[in-house]
Amino acid sequence: MLKITDDEFIEVIGTRAERAKALKPCPIGSEGACCRTCYVGPCRFVGKNAEEEVRGVCASTLGVVASRQFLTMCASGSAIHAARARESIDKLLEAAENERRIYDKAKLNAVADLIGVGSAKKTKTKLAKQIADEYLSWFYKYPSTVLNQLPSKRLNIWKECDLLPRGIDREIAESTYNASVGVNYDVEDIMMQAARVSIANGWFSSAIVADIEDITENSTTLYDSKLSGIAENYWNKMVGGYGKAPSLNILGELIFSGDIRGIACLIDCDHPRYEESSSQRFISLELIKNDILVVTGGCNNTLENAGLLSPDTVMQVAGRKLKKVYENTGIPPVISLGGCISHSRILNVLSALVKENAIDNVDDINGLPCVILAPHWFSGTAISIGCFYAVSGVETIFGGKSLTHASKEVTQILESTWKQKFGASFRFVDNAIDMVEAVLDHMDAVRKNSGLVSYYP
Ligand code: SF4
Repeated sequence: MLKITDDEFIEVIGTRAERAKALKPCPIGSEGACCRTCYVGPCRFVGKNAEEEVRGVCASTLGVVASRQFLTMCASGSAIHAARARESIDKLLEAAENERRIYDKAKLNAVADLIGVGSAKKTKTKLAKQIADEYLSWFYKYPSTVLNQLPSKRLNIWKECDLLPRGIDREIAESTYNASVGVNYDVEDIMMQAARVSIANGWFSSAIVADIEDITENSTTLYDSKLSGIAENYWNKMVGGYGKAPSLNILGELIFSGDIRGIACLIDCDHPRYEESSSQRFISLELIKNDILVVTGGCNNTLENAGLLSPDTVMQVAGRKLKKVYENTGIPPVISLGGCISHSRILNVLSALVKENAIDNVDDINGLPCVILAPHWFSGTAISIGCFYAVSGVETIFGGKSLTHASKEVTQILESTWKQKFGASFRFVDNAIDMVEAVLDHMDAVRKNSGLVSYYP
Protein backbone atom coordinates (compact mmCIF):
# COMPACT_ATOMS: atom_id res chain seq x y z
CA MET A 1 0.00 0.00 0.00
CA LEU A 2 1.42 3.34 -1.03
CA LYS A 3 1.56 5.74 1.93
CA ILE A 4 1.80 9.45 1.31
CA THR A 5 2.05 12.31 3.77
CA ASP A 6 -0.16 15.40 3.78
CA ASP A 7 2.77 17.46 2.50
CA GLU A 8 3.35 15.07 -0.41
CA PHE A 9 -0.36 15.14 -1.18
CA ILE A 10 -0.38 18.94 -1.30
CA GLU A 11 2.69 18.85 -3.53
CA VAL A 12 0.72 16.77 -6.04
CA ILE A 13 -2.65 18.58 -5.99
CA GLY A 14 -1.56 22.02 -4.74
CA THR A 15 -3.34 24.20 -2.18
CA ARG A 16 -6.91 25.31 -2.81
CA ALA A 17 -5.69 28.88 -3.45
CA GLU A 18 -3.30 27.56 -6.11
CA ARG A 19 -6.04 25.46 -7.68
CA ALA A 20 -8.44 28.43 -7.63
CA LYS A 21 -5.80 30.52 -9.42
CA ALA A 22 -5.14 27.86 -12.04
CA LEU A 23 -8.81 27.07 -12.74
CA LYS A 24 -10.86 30.11 -13.71
CA PRO A 25 -14.65 29.92 -13.39
CA CYS A 26 -16.53 29.12 -16.61
CA PRO A 27 -17.79 32.52 -17.87
CA ILE A 28 -21.07 31.07 -19.17
CA GLY A 29 -21.90 28.82 -16.22
CA SER A 30 -20.89 31.39 -13.60
CA GLU A 31 -23.78 33.66 -14.55
CA GLY A 32 -26.44 30.99 -14.90
CA ALA A 33 -26.42 30.78 -18.71
CA CYS A 34 -25.49 27.10 -19.09
CA CYS A 35 -28.03 24.37 -18.37
CA ARG A 36 -27.00 20.78 -17.70
CA THR A 37 -30.24 19.74 -16.06
CA CYS A 38 -30.62 16.90 -18.56
CA TYR A 39 -28.28 15.08 -20.90
CA VAL A 40 -29.81 16.44 -24.08
CA GLY A 41 -27.65 19.48 -23.28
CA PRO A 42 -25.72 21.11 -21.82
CA CYS A 43 -27.51 24.00 -23.53
CA ARG A 44 -25.76 27.37 -23.54
CA PHE A 45 -27.67 30.66 -23.66
CA VAL A 46 -25.15 33.01 -25.24
CA GLY A 47 -25.33 36.01 -27.55
CA LYS A 48 -26.58 39.56 -27.22
CA ASN A 49 -30.29 38.72 -27.06
CA ALA A 50 -30.02 35.27 -25.49
CA GLU A 51 -32.86 35.94 -23.07
CA GLU A 52 -35.31 36.80 -25.85
CA GLU A 53 -34.07 34.59 -28.67
CA VAL A 54 -32.32 31.48 -27.39
CA ARG A 55 -34.28 28.42 -26.23
CA GLY A 56 -33.00 25.13 -24.84
CA VAL A 57 -33.86 21.93 -26.71
CA CYS A 58 -36.69 21.45 -24.16
CA ALA A 59 -37.90 25.02 -24.89
CA SER A 60 -36.53 26.44 -21.63
CA THR A 61 -35.80 30.16 -21.56
CA LEU A 62 -32.72 31.66 -19.94
CA GLY A 63 -34.93 32.68 -17.02
CA VAL A 64 -36.06 29.08 -16.53
CA VAL A 65 -32.54 27.64 -16.47
CA ALA A 66 -31.14 30.43 -14.25
CA SER A 67 -34.02 30.11 -11.76
CA ARG A 68 -33.54 26.32 -11.67
CA GLN A 69 -29.92 26.90 -10.71
CA PHE A 70 -30.90 29.37 -7.99
CA LEU A 71 -33.43 26.85 -6.66
CA THR A 72 -30.89 24.01 -6.76
CA MET A 73 -28.41 26.10 -4.73
CA CYS A 74 -31.09 26.88 -2.13
CA ALA A 75 -32.09 23.21 -1.95
CA SER A 76 -28.48 22.10 -1.45
CA GLY A 77 -28.00 24.64 1.36
CA SER A 78 -31.23 23.50 2.95
CA ALA A 79 -30.18 19.83 2.64
CA ILE A 80 -26.85 20.53 4.35
CA HIS A 81 -28.55 22.20 7.31
CA ALA A 82 -31.20 19.45 7.38
CA ALA A 83 -28.39 16.90 7.78
CA ARG A 84 -26.99 18.98 10.64
CA ALA A 85 -30.45 19.02 12.23
CA ARG A 86 -30.69 15.21 12.04
CA GLU A 87 -27.27 14.87 13.69
CA SER A 88 -28.39 17.26 16.43
CA ILE A 89 -31.55 15.23 17.08
CA ASP A 90 -29.39 12.09 17.45
CA LYS A 91 -27.30 14.03 19.95
CA LEU A 92 -30.41 15.00 21.92
CA LEU A 93 -31.58 11.36 21.98
CA GLU A 94 -28.17 10.26 23.26
CA ALA A 95 -28.28 12.97 25.92
CA ALA A 96 -31.75 11.79 26.93
CA GLU A 97 -30.19 8.49 28.00
CA ASN A 98 -27.88 10.31 30.36
CA GLU A 99 -29.63 13.23 32.03
CA ARG A 100 -26.37 14.79 33.18
CA ARG A 101 -25.72 15.68 29.55
CA ILE A 102 -28.80 17.89 29.47
CA TYR A 103 -27.19 21.01 30.84
CA ASP A 104 -29.89 23.60 30.34
CA LYS A 105 -33.16 22.40 31.86
CA ALA A 106 -34.74 25.86 31.56
CA LYS A 107 -34.06 25.87 27.83
CA LEU A 108 -35.40 22.32 27.57
CA ASN A 109 -38.64 23.50 29.19
CA ALA A 110 -38.83 26.60 26.99
CA VAL A 111 -38.44 24.54 23.82
CA ALA A 112 -41.02 22.03 25.04
CA ASP A 113 -43.48 24.90 25.64
CA LEU A 114 -42.76 26.45 22.28
CA ILE A 115 -43.25 23.30 20.22
CA GLY A 116 -46.24 22.12 22.21
CA VAL A 117 -45.06 18.99 24.00
CA GLY A 118 -45.61 20.51 27.46
CA SER A 119 -43.13 20.41 30.31
CA ALA A 120 -45.00 20.09 33.59
CA LYS A 121 -43.55 17.45 35.91
CA LYS A 122 -41.83 15.49 33.14
CA THR A 123 -38.33 14.13 33.63
CA LYS A 124 -35.51 15.53 31.52
CA THR A 125 -35.27 12.19 29.73
CA LYS A 126 -38.93 12.07 28.84
CA LEU A 127 -38.99 15.67 27.71
CA ALA A 128 -35.85 15.34 25.59
CA LYS A 129 -37.28 12.25 23.86
CA GLN A 130 -40.59 13.99 23.15
CA ILE A 131 -38.82 17.04 21.77
CA ALA A 132 -36.68 14.79 19.55
CA ASP A 133 -39.81 13.00 18.25
CA GLU A 134 -41.53 16.30 17.52
CA TYR A 135 -38.45 17.63 15.71
CA LEU A 136 -38.30 14.46 13.59
CA SER A 137 -41.89 15.07 12.49
CA TRP A 138 -40.83 18.48 11.13
CA PHE A 139 -39.05 16.65 8.33
CA TYR A 140 -42.38 15.60 6.83
CA LYS A 141 -44.96 18.06 8.17
CA TYR A 142 -45.52 21.76 8.73
CA PRO A 143 -44.80 22.75 12.36
CA SER A 144 -47.18 25.65 12.91
CA THR A 145 -45.91 26.27 16.46
CA VAL A 146 -42.57 27.58 15.19
CA LEU A 147 -43.95 30.04 12.70
CA ASN A 148 -46.18 31.50 15.41
CA GLN A 149 -43.03 33.32 16.50
CA LEU A 150 -43.33 35.48 13.40
CA PRO A 151 -45.08 38.86 13.41
CA SER A 152 -48.65 38.26 12.18
CA LYS A 153 -48.10 40.55 9.21
CA ARG A 154 -45.18 38.43 7.96
CA LEU A 155 -47.05 35.19 8.52
CA ASN A 156 -49.96 36.54 6.49
CA ILE A 157 -47.65 37.50 3.62
CA TRP A 158 -46.31 33.94 3.56
CA LYS A 159 -49.82 32.49 3.70
CA GLU A 160 -50.96 34.69 0.83
CA CYS A 161 -47.92 33.65 -1.22
CA ASP A 162 -48.45 29.97 -0.31
CA LEU A 163 -44.98 29.79 1.19
CA LEU A 164 -45.53 27.78 4.38
CA PRO A 165 -43.12 24.83 4.10
CA ARG A 166 -44.67 21.34 4.07
CA GLY A 167 -41.80 19.87 6.06
CA ILE A 168 -38.02 20.01 5.66
CA ASP A 169 -37.55 16.91 3.50
CA ARG A 170 -40.71 17.52 1.52
CA GLU A 171 -39.45 20.95 0.38
CA ILE A 172 -36.02 19.59 -0.55
CA ALA A 173 -37.69 16.87 -2.65
CA GLU A 174 -40.13 19.37 -4.23
CA SER A 175 -37.17 21.57 -5.14
CA THR A 176 -35.36 18.77 -6.96
CA TYR A 177 -38.62 17.97 -8.75
CA ASN A 178 -39.25 21.60 -9.76
CA ALA A 179 -35.67 22.01 -10.99
CA SER A 180 -35.93 18.96 -13.28
CA VAL A 181 -36.47 18.96 -17.04
CA GLY A 182 -40.08 19.01 -18.22
CA VAL A 183 -41.70 20.00 -14.91
CA ASN A 184 -41.96 23.74 -14.23
CA TYR A 185 -41.46 26.54 -16.77
CA ASP A 186 -42.87 29.37 -14.62
CA VAL A 187 -39.83 31.37 -13.48
CA GLU A 188 -41.59 33.19 -10.65
CA ASP A 189 -43.02 29.93 -9.35
CA ILE A 190 -39.59 28.26 -9.41
CA MET A 191 -38.25 31.19 -7.35
CA MET A 192 -41.13 30.77 -4.86
CA GLN A 193 -40.02 27.18 -4.34
CA ALA A 194 -36.52 28.54 -3.59
CA ALA A 195 -38.13 30.74 -0.94
CA ARG A 196 -40.11 27.82 0.54
CA VAL A 197 -37.14 25.46 0.84
CA SER A 198 -35.07 28.26 2.38
CA ILE A 199 -37.73 29.07 4.99
CA ALA A 200 -37.58 25.38 5.98
CA ASN A 201 -33.83 25.81 6.38
CA GLY A 202 -33.87 29.02 8.46
CA TRP A 203 -36.94 28.52 10.59
CA PHE A 204 -36.92 24.73 11.01
CA SER A 205 -33.53 22.98 10.50
CA SER A 206 -31.34 25.83 11.76
CA ALA A 207 -33.63 26.41 14.75
CA ILE A 208 -33.42 22.71 15.69
CA VAL A 209 -29.61 22.87 15.67
CA ALA A 210 -29.49 26.10 17.71
CA ASP A 211 -31.89 24.86 20.38
CA ILE A 212 -30.28 21.44 20.80
CA GLU A 213 -26.86 23.11 21.02
CA ASP A 214 -28.14 25.26 23.89
CA ILE A 215 -29.73 22.31 25.67
CA THR A 216 -26.78 19.93 25.41
CA GLU A 217 -23.73 22.17 25.55
CA ASN A 218 -22.15 23.03 28.83
CA SER A 219 -22.35 26.80 28.72
CA THR A 220 -23.61 29.26 31.28
CA THR A 221 -27.37 29.31 31.60
CA LEU A 222 -28.53 32.85 31.07
CA TYR A 223 -32.13 31.99 30.40
CA ASP A 224 -34.76 33.65 32.51
CA SER A 225 -38.13 31.99 31.98
CA LYS A 226 -39.95 35.21 32.87
CA LEU A 227 -38.50 36.83 29.76
CA SER A 228 -40.17 36.66 26.38
CA GLY A 229 -39.04 33.17 25.47
CA ILE A 230 -36.69 31.65 22.96
CA ALA A 231 -35.72 34.94 21.28
CA GLU A 232 -34.69 36.56 24.57
CA ASN A 233 -32.76 33.39 25.31
CA TYR A 234 -30.93 33.63 21.96
CA TRP A 235 -30.16 37.29 22.60
CA ASN A 236 -28.78 36.49 26.05
CA LYS A 237 -26.57 33.76 24.65
CA MET A 238 -25.30 36.05 21.88
CA VAL A 239 -24.41 38.96 24.11
CA GLY A 240 -24.08 37.15 27.43
CA GLY A 241 -20.55 35.98 26.59
CA TYR A 242 -19.50 39.59 27.08
CA GLY A 243 -21.57 40.11 30.25
CA LYS A 244 -25.28 40.16 31.17
CA ALA A 245 -27.36 41.12 28.16
CA PRO A 246 -29.86 43.96 28.42
CA SER A 247 -33.44 43.03 27.51
CA LEU A 248 -34.80 43.01 23.98
CA ASN A 249 -36.83 46.08 24.93
CA ILE A 250 -33.62 47.98 25.60
CA LEU A 251 -32.23 46.82 22.25
CA GLY A 252 -35.44 48.08 20.65
CA GLU A 253 -35.10 51.48 22.34
CA LEU A 254 -31.49 51.82 21.19
CA ILE A 255 -32.51 51.07 17.62
CA PHE A 256 -35.46 53.46 17.81
CA SER A 257 -33.32 56.31 19.15
CA GLY A 258 -30.56 55.81 16.57
CA ASP A 259 -27.92 54.98 19.17
CA ILE A 260 -27.71 51.77 17.20
CA ARG A 261 -28.16 52.95 13.60
CA GLY A 262 -29.00 49.43 12.44
CA ILE A 263 -27.95 45.79 12.55
CA ALA A 264 -25.82 44.18 9.83
CA CYS A 265 -25.68 40.38 9.84
CA LEU A 266 -22.56 39.06 8.15
CA ILE A 267 -22.24 35.64 6.51
CA ASP A 268 -18.50 35.14 6.85
CA CYS A 269 -17.64 32.61 4.12
CA ASP A 270 -14.18 31.14 3.66
CA HIS A 271 -13.92 31.64 -0.14
CA PRO A 272 -10.83 30.09 -1.80
CA ARG A 273 -10.57 32.91 -4.35
CA TYR A 274 -10.36 35.53 -1.56
CA GLU A 275 -7.84 34.12 0.90
CA GLU A 276 -7.54 37.39 2.78
CA SER A 277 -11.29 37.86 3.38
CA SER A 278 -10.44 41.54 3.02
CA SER A 279 -13.96 42.64 2.12
CA GLN A 280 -15.47 41.16 5.28
CA ARG A 281 -12.93 43.03 7.41
CA PHE A 282 -13.20 46.32 5.52
CA ILE A 283 -17.00 46.37 5.43
CA SER A 284 -17.34 45.46 9.11
CA LEU A 285 -14.92 48.18 10.17
CA GLU A 286 -16.77 50.80 8.11
CA LEU A 287 -20.12 49.72 9.54
CA ILE A 288 -18.92 49.81 13.14
CA LYS A 289 -17.47 53.28 12.55
CA ASN A 290 -20.95 54.28 11.39
CA ASP A 291 -22.62 52.97 14.56
CA ILE A 292 -24.01 49.82 12.97
CA LEU A 293 -23.98 46.72 15.13
CA VAL A 294 -22.36 43.79 13.28
CA VAL A 295 -23.46 40.22 14.02
CA THR A 296 -21.22 37.68 12.33
CA GLY A 297 -21.54 33.95 11.68
CA GLY A 298 -19.79 31.69 9.21
CA CYS A 299 -17.01 29.18 8.57
CA ASN A 300 -14.35 31.91 8.56
CA ASN A 301 -13.09 33.79 11.58
CA THR A 302 -12.35 37.03 9.79
CA LEU A 303 -13.44 39.40 12.51
CA GLU A 304 -11.89 37.33 15.27
CA ASN A 305 -8.58 37.20 13.35
CA ALA A 306 -8.77 40.97 12.94
CA GLY A 307 -9.17 41.33 16.72
CA LEU A 308 -12.70 42.68 16.34
CA LEU A 309 -14.30 40.25 18.77
CA SER A 310 -12.38 41.82 21.60
CA PRO A 311 -14.59 44.66 22.85
CA ASP A 312 -11.52 46.60 24.03
CA THR A 313 -9.97 46.52 20.55
CA VAL A 314 -13.17 47.23 18.72
CA MET A 315 -13.87 50.19 21.00
CA GLN A 316 -10.90 51.95 19.44
CA VAL A 317 -12.57 51.93 16.02
CA ALA A 318 -16.30 52.00 16.81
CA GLY A 319 -18.44 55.08 16.26
CA ARG A 320 -19.20 57.42 19.14
CA LYS A 321 -22.74 56.10 19.67
CA LEU A 322 -21.76 52.41 19.64
CA LYS A 323 -19.03 53.12 22.19
CA LYS A 324 -21.62 54.68 24.47
CA VAL A 325 -24.00 51.74 23.93
CA TYR A 326 -21.26 49.35 25.03
CA GLU A 327 -20.34 51.42 28.08
CA ASN A 328 -23.96 51.79 29.18
CA THR A 329 -25.44 48.39 28.31
CA GLY A 330 -22.60 45.93 27.62
CA ILE A 331 -23.69 45.30 24.00
CA PRO A 332 -20.40 45.09 22.06
CA PRO A 333 -20.15 46.55 18.52
CA VAL A 334 -19.40 43.10 17.07
CA ILE A 335 -21.19 39.92 18.14
CA SER A 336 -20.15 36.46 17.01
CA LEU A 337 -22.76 33.76 16.42
CA GLY A 338 -20.39 30.90 15.55
CA GLY A 339 -21.28 28.98 12.38
CA CYS A 340 -23.56 30.28 9.65
CA ILE A 341 -26.30 27.88 10.75
CA SER A 342 -26.71 30.13 13.80
CA HIS A 343 -28.05 32.99 11.68
CA SER A 344 -31.52 31.73 12.55
CA ARG A 345 -30.87 33.05 16.08
CA ILE A 346 -30.61 36.69 14.97
CA LEU A 347 -33.58 36.26 12.67
CA ASN A 348 -35.56 35.05 15.64
CA VAL A 349 -34.39 38.06 17.68
CA LEU A 350 -35.45 40.46 14.91
CA SER A 351 -38.82 38.78 14.72
CA ALA A 352 -39.30 39.06 18.49
CA LEU A 353 -38.38 42.77 18.47
CA VAL A 354 -41.39 43.30 16.22
CA LYS A 355 -43.73 40.79 17.81
CA GLU A 356 -43.11 42.12 21.31
CA ASN A 357 -43.62 45.73 20.14
CA ALA A 358 -40.11 46.62 21.28
CA ILE A 359 -39.89 49.40 18.68
CA ASP A 360 -42.66 51.95 18.27
CA ASN A 361 -44.19 52.08 14.77
CA VAL A 362 -42.61 48.83 13.53
CA ASP A 363 -45.07 46.00 12.81
CA ASP A 364 -43.03 43.80 10.48
CA ILE A 365 -39.40 42.72 10.10
CA ASN A 366 -38.84 44.82 6.96
CA GLY A 367 -39.53 47.91 9.10
CA LEU A 368 -36.30 47.29 11.03
CA PRO A 369 -33.03 48.91 9.85
CA CYS A 370 -31.29 45.61 9.15
CA VAL A 371 -29.38 43.93 6.34
CA ILE A 372 -27.77 40.58 5.71
CA LEU A 373 -24.39 40.71 3.94
CA ALA A 374 -22.24 38.09 2.27
CA PRO A 375 -19.25 39.76 0.57
CA HIS A 376 -17.48 36.50 -0.42
CA TRP A 377 -20.34 33.99 -0.63
CA PHE A 378 -19.88 30.81 -2.62
CA SER A 379 -22.09 27.97 -1.35
CA GLY A 380 -25.71 26.88 -1.46
CA THR A 381 -25.91 27.41 2.30
CA ALA A 382 -25.07 31.13 1.86
CA ILE A 383 -27.62 31.55 -0.95
CA SER A 384 -30.26 29.73 1.08
CA ILE A 385 -29.52 31.90 4.15
CA GLY A 386 -29.75 35.05 2.01
CA CYS A 387 -33.01 33.77 0.64
CA PHE A 388 -34.64 33.08 4.02
CA TYR A 389 -33.55 36.49 5.32
CA ALA A 390 -34.97 38.24 2.23
CA VAL A 391 -38.36 36.52 2.37
CA SER A 392 -38.43 37.23 6.11
CA GLY A 393 -38.10 40.96 5.28
CA VAL A 394 -34.37 41.62 5.72
CA GLU A 395 -32.64 43.42 2.83
CA THR A 396 -30.08 40.99 1.38
CA ILE A 397 -26.86 42.33 -0.14
CA PHE A 398 -24.34 39.86 -1.54
CA GLY A 399 -20.95 40.69 -3.03
CA GLY A 400 -19.73 40.20 -6.60
CA LYS A 401 -21.79 38.91 -9.48
CA SER A 402 -25.06 37.05 -9.11
CA LEU A 403 -25.24 33.35 -9.98
CA THR A 404 -28.20 34.32 -12.21
CA HIS A 405 -26.61 37.50 -13.60
CA ALA A 406 -27.29 36.51 -17.23
CA SER A 407 -31.08 36.53 -16.75
CA LYS A 408 -32.78 39.91 -16.54
CA GLU A 409 -36.01 38.11 -15.62
CA VAL A 410 -34.55 36.41 -12.53
CA THR A 411 -32.65 39.55 -11.51
CA GLN A 412 -35.89 41.51 -11.73
CA ILE A 413 -37.71 38.96 -9.54
CA LEU A 414 -35.00 39.09 -6.87
CA GLU A 415 -34.65 42.88 -6.89
CA SER A 416 -38.15 44.16 -7.64
CA THR A 417 -40.82 41.48 -7.34
CA TRP A 418 -39.50 40.30 -3.97
CA LYS A 419 -39.18 43.90 -2.77
CA GLN A 420 -42.88 44.39 -3.53
CA LYS A 421 -43.94 41.04 -2.05
CA PHE A 422 -41.64 40.73 0.95
CA GLY A 423 -40.44 44.31 1.54
CA ALA A 424 -36.82 43.23 0.96
CA SER A 425 -34.82 42.49 -2.15
CA PHE A 426 -31.97 40.07 -2.77
CA ARG A 427 -29.32 41.99 -4.67
CA PHE A 428 -25.70 41.64 -5.68
CA VAL A 429 -23.33 44.60 -5.35
CA ASP A 430 -20.00 44.42 -7.10
CA ASN A 431 -17.46 45.81 -4.63
CA ALA A 432 -16.95 46.41 -0.92
CA ILE A 433 -17.18 50.23 -1.02
CA ASP A 434 -20.51 50.08 -2.87
CA MET A 435 -21.75 47.46 -0.40
CA VAL A 436 -21.07 49.79 2.54
CA GLU A 437 -22.91 52.61 0.78
CA ALA A 438 -25.82 50.32 -0.02
CA VAL A 439 -26.09 49.34 3.67
CA LEU A 440 -26.00 52.94 4.92
CA ASP A 441 -28.55 54.09 2.32
CA HIS A 442 -30.86 51.20 3.16
CA MET A 443 -30.71 51.78 6.91
CA ASP A 444 -31.37 55.51 6.59
CA ALA A 445 -34.29 54.92 4.21
CA VAL A 446 -35.86 52.34 6.55
CA ARG A 447 -35.39 54.59 9.57
CA LYS A 448 -37.23 57.37 7.76
CA ASN A 449 -40.06 55.12 6.48
CA SER A 450 -40.55 53.49 9.88
CA GLY A 451 -40.65 56.84 11.71
CA LEU A 452 -37.55 56.07 13.82
CA VAL A 453 -35.48 58.95 15.19
CA SER A 454 -33.10 60.22 12.51
CA TYR A 455 -29.56 58.92 12.98
CA TYR A 456 -28.18 62.36 12.16
CA PRO A 457 -28.32 64.91 15.01
S1 SF4 B 1 -33.15 20.83 -19.42
FE1 SF4 B 1 -33.57 21.79 -21.41
S2 SF4 B 1 -32.19 23.57 -21.46
FE2 SF4 B 1 -31.43 22.18 -19.86
S3 SF4 B 1 -29.92 20.85 -20.83
FE3 SF4 B 1 -31.87 19.76 -20.96
S4 SF4 B 1 -32.74 20.38 -22.92
FE4 SF4 B 1 -31.10 21.83 -22.47
